Amino acid sequence: MTDLSIKRLARNDGLRVALARGEFEVFYQPKVSCLSGAIVGVEALVRWHHPECGLVAPGEFIPAFERLHLIEPLGSWVLQEACAQVGRWQAAGIESPVVAVNLSAHQFESGELVEQVRQAIHAGAIAPDRLELELTESLLMRHVEGVVQTLAQLHDFGVRLSVDDFGTGYSSLAYLKQFPLDAVKIDRSFIRDITADPDDASITRAIITMAHQLKLKVIAEGVETEGQLKLLVANQCDEIQGYYFSRPIPASEMESMLREKRCLAQDLLSVRQRQRTILIVDDEQPIINALCRLLRQDGYSILCATNAMEGLEILAKNEVDVVLSDQRMPGMMGVEFLRRVKSIHPGTVRMVLSGYADLQSVTDAINEGAIYKYITKPWDRDRLRSLVQDAFRQKELVDETRIGGAVPALVNAGNLQIRGRFSSHHLPPIREERSAEAEPTALSAQDVLGELGLPIIGIDPQGTIVYANQEAQSALGAKESLCGYSAAQVLPGALALWAGVGRCRETRWQGTRAAYRVLLRPMTLPGHAGGTLLVLLPEAEAGE
Ligand code: C2E
Ligand code: MG
Ligand code: MG
Repeated sequence: MTDLSIKRLARNDGLRVALARGEFEVFYQPKVSCLSGAIVGVEALVRWHHPECGLVAPGEFIPAFERLHLIEPLGSWVLQEACAQVGRWQAAGIESPVVAVNLSAHQFESGELVEQVRQAIHAGAIAPDRLELELTESLLMRHVEGVVQTLAQLHDFGVRLSVDDFGTGYSSLAYLKQFPLDAVKIDRSFIRDITADPDDASITRAIITMAHQLKLKVIAEGVETEGQLKLLVANQCDEIQGYYFSRPIPASEMESMLREKRCLAQDLLSVRQRQRTILIVDDEQPIINALCRLLRQDGYSILCATNAMEGLEILAKNEVDVVLSDQRMPGMMGVEFLRRVKSIHPGTVRMVLSGYADLQSVTDAINEGAIYKYITKPWDRDRLRSLVQDAFRQKELVDETRIGGAVPALVNAGNLQIRGRFSSHHLPPIREERSAEAEPTALSAQDVLGELGLPIIGIDPQGTIVYANQEAQSALGAKESLCGYSAAQVLPGALALWAGVGRCRETRWQGTRAAYRVLLRPMTLPGHAGGTLLVLLPEAEAGE
């Protein structure tokens, strides 16, 4: 019956008439922050009120709509409707979430997408950053002529872009890096078994870690149980979407939910160890207030001080992760204050807010390792938030390495990928991203292995590469970091095979550039048994 009706819609003015009759409706499903528990976005999902069949889900008609060229007009209607809805919520005084709209590849082909988006945003009277477009992996893979350009235009305009159903196609995050993306949505097929299947758990963990490395936000789709949620929260996932919190619902119900400010219970989020705590030090109260307002949305516990001495007092009494200090303060300058903080509380991640005039003194402090990052005044709100988030991640990374001890960290994908990246070609510009890890206390096995000058690869019990230094990457002729990939996928046949054996052994491998003697060592550390360490010794040296 639907087939017949779809054909009818394709004839003459069928779809326009059906739209005018209200046969289509946009439902909304909330996306919830794993930090604050609050609703931060909604996804627009179309529904068809079929005169005879009742409510039809998009899976049943979208493919046919794509074939019959009905998806362009329908997609454009959904876009307008979603922007208009957010505009209405805003006008009604509701704090507006970001609305995500799904795009079909056909909408790119029309060449009118950018204009349609502009019009929808304009008509809805919303800011461009309230709109997110969800793209499919296959669209990005096909690399349709003009896609990159269109995405760049949309991104420059301020619209957010994300990849939907990530993991179901064949793209890698490394490939996706060429597009101006803001987020990836992990497909629900990985989330479904995340609590029971170690493969799905490690794939998900690897996606989250790598996406964060590429400065992408991660949203998990299809979260249905508390267990799934807790695991995702513990693995630093940024947002979740799924029946556990809410099914897709009509706009009116969504409105009530937003008004009620419904959110996830705090005890579900506390698995992220303890609450992230930041100390803000500034002699101007209005600046403190502005920073508190800005950072409160991310769910941090915020402590404030109006001078350096007060700041030191607070640090003595509280466990603080990140310190954000003004540079110009009477009594003690920010840099001097942070130097003291470094020596008394070396575990903190320290940042300074400064005007351009103070850059020289700030640079010195950065080079001494007293400061992780500087932020110039006046600050960009989103940038500041993301820098603070990075600082917390940095802190957690260092903590994990210290608590877990250096070597067990080898089987922790999260840790190694980030640190591997930091120590290799991804070394960021010194001024902005000087890392607190440079402190001798944070030196760990990875750092040492990175310095060894021999190709070394660490594989976790699930067969995922969790460590590969620069030398390993060049020996294998890889352009990208190997971390997060399955060993079976990226290692040459012989090595992949031996790596799975889990016994001490030696073998030879003829690479494209050199021959190697390969040492395989199972990792049998308490609680971490099962991983493998691969060391490649170039033949000439091996004989020495
Ligand atoms: P999607 O973009 O991946 O949307 C998420 C789908 O997962 C939705 O299905 C949603 O109802 C479902 N879902 C959400 N949470 C859960 C959960 O916890 N468990 C389970 N089992 N499912 C969950 P829906 O609404 O049937 O939409 C299916 C697909 O249709 C969407 O997948 C999207 O690709 C497409 N679609 C929907 N609306 C539009 C549209 O306006 N334009 C285009 N081009 N595609 C659309
Ligand atoms: Mg979607
Ligand atoms: Mg999806």
